[in-house]
Amino acid sequence: MRAGDTHFIFDLGTGVRELGAASKAPLDAHVFISHYHYDHLQGLPFFGPIFDPRSRFTVRGPTRNGRTVKDVVSGQMQQPYFPVTAEMVFRAQLDYQPFEAGDRLRLGDVTVVAIEAHHPGGNLAYRIEYRGRSVVYATDHEHGDRDAQLIDFSRDADVIIYDSMYTDDEYLGRVGSAKTGWGHSTWQSAVRIARAAKVKSLILFHHDPTRTDDALDALVRVVKKEFKQTIAAREGLVVKL
Ligand SMILES: [Zn+2]
Ligand SMILES: [Zn+2]
Repeated sequence: MRAGDTHFIFDLGTGVRELGAASKAPLDAHVFISHYHYDHLQGLPFFGPIFDPRSRFTVRGPTRNGRTVKDVVSGQMQQPYFPVTAEMVFRAQLDYQPFEAGDRLRLGDVTVVAIEAHHPGGNLAYRIEYRGRSVVYATDHEHGDRDAQLIDFSRDADVIIYDSMYTDDEYLGRVGSAKTGWGHSTWQSAVRIARAAKVKSLILFHHDPTRTDDALDALVRVVKKEFKQTIAAREGLVVKL
């Protein structure tokens, strides 16, 4: 995300590899981590700008199970999981800072706030405000608990990026095995939360990896009947506010 000259990266999934490959110059960015499941960290060892001494990153995230953001993020690179450690190969200027639910950070004209979402092991949703525009990044939220807090938190946002991994039928086990308690949500809950919070547009995110692009296009057509301003997140997508 870019707000003026300030750059933000939310989570370090495999998408950051593409971001690194697309970045010509060294990067200077604020990184916010929602939680430490593999799919939110796995891109870091393959993120080109992290090897560039001219790049600079401040990585923020919560302390979980007594382990700080630095412990967890750099700790993924060690034997027997990985051949080299972060200390051995990262060359960018790296700073790690704790960031917890309820924290609020001001960076120039940008404000970042976080709340706890509903996910096994904990997970932060973030709201970013810049000159009257706002985006909520709410991935890995399982609807049910904390919906009211998330709706309050998302009130009148321009965009909500929301976990829409399943359909209600998939989630409840009417198709395949039930997915309740797995920490993910449905497009029906995405619509319900987007409407209740009166957000302007909905970006479906954290797609089920078994869903094909065609199936996802078909799904978006269905969702748009319920919430017109809906798109599905995809690699390389750019949204301007
Ligand atoms: Zn997760
Ligand atoms: Zn996830």
